[in-house]
Amino acid sequence: MEQVPAIIGDVAALALGASVGSFAVTVAYRLPRDISIATPGSFCESCERPVPWWANIPIFAYLASRGRCLMCGAPIRARHLGAELSLALAALYLYVNFPLDDAIARFIFVTALLISSLVDYDWRLIPNLITFPGVPVGFVLAALVMPEIGWKNSLIGIVAGGGVLFATGLIYQLVRGQEGVGLGDVFLLAMVGAFLGWQGVLFTLFFGALLGSFGGLAVGIFGTPTDAPELPPSARQAAIAPASAASGTAGAQAGAAAVAAQADAVAVSIDPQAPDSAAAENEEHSLLATAVPFGPFLSLAAGFYALFQPLLVSWYLSR
Ligand SMILES: [Zn+2]
Repeated sequence: MEQVPAIIGDVAALALGASVGSFAVTVAYRLPRDISIATPGSFCESCERPVPWWANIPIFAYLASRGRCLMCGAPIRARHLGAELSLALAALYLYVNFPLDDAIARFIFVTALLISSLVDYDWRLIPNLITFPGVPVGFVLAALVMPEIGWKNSLIGIVAGGGVLFATGLIYQLVRGQEGVGLGDVFLLAMVGAFLGWQGVLFTLFFGALLGSFGGLAVGIFGTPTDAPELPPSARQAAIAPASAASGTAGAQAGAAAVAAQADAVAVSIDPQAPDSAAAENEEHSLLATAVPFGPFLSLAAGFYALFQPLLVSWYLSR
């Protein structure tokens, strides 16, 4: 009989994780478009009609509708299912393997990472609205409920994460004369430092760069993808908006650019330098250049560390 409460807890963690995953996709969609998180309720991204309540049930609604809007038949982006599944599993894993308060702190962190990644993937900018508050929130949580991190480590992590990447970006800019590391990445890594300490920053930088190299390599070998099925039409246009518009804090500015460009049927490109054809050519085969957004790779590494930190540390110490 003792198993019953445990199973209830597991199911609750799964359900909560899936719901937050659904919420994260909504936030990632609305934040750069300046749409309120609260109102209107869920709507189809294609026909913009409100969806029935049951179509908000995470995972099941996507599977039941076979990934299509029931009203207009437009495909619903697979990221909905992906985010719901991955945060459901993350929540369950954290719930089972960490004290509840620690698990919640880590879950908040991976949710922030997921939202940042989705926005970065679509728009080439990491939302400061997520990473700025993420730094103090991460510091407080690390100090209070994450004993493996603690406030000192968190503080060093903030300085290390923000400082190291900022310096790297500065050097890159001096050497290459173009922006290699966006300020968004700097704030993202400061947030990583706040939640995970300096060891987490090191891990994230190393494995994020490694993953990013594979991503860059793929782009270098196969060329810039000309069809990105994950991207909505508006975001596709935004992706080719000038980098200067995208690197600022003004999501609304990029949003306006996207709306203005939406009418045109411009060739799809995820290259941030695309408006400058010379730069684009130059960048095509340069793996150093940010032809792929770095943020999602950093986030992937950081999320991995947030979940498996105890395993990684004990594995490292046992060597
Ligand atoms: Zn629809």
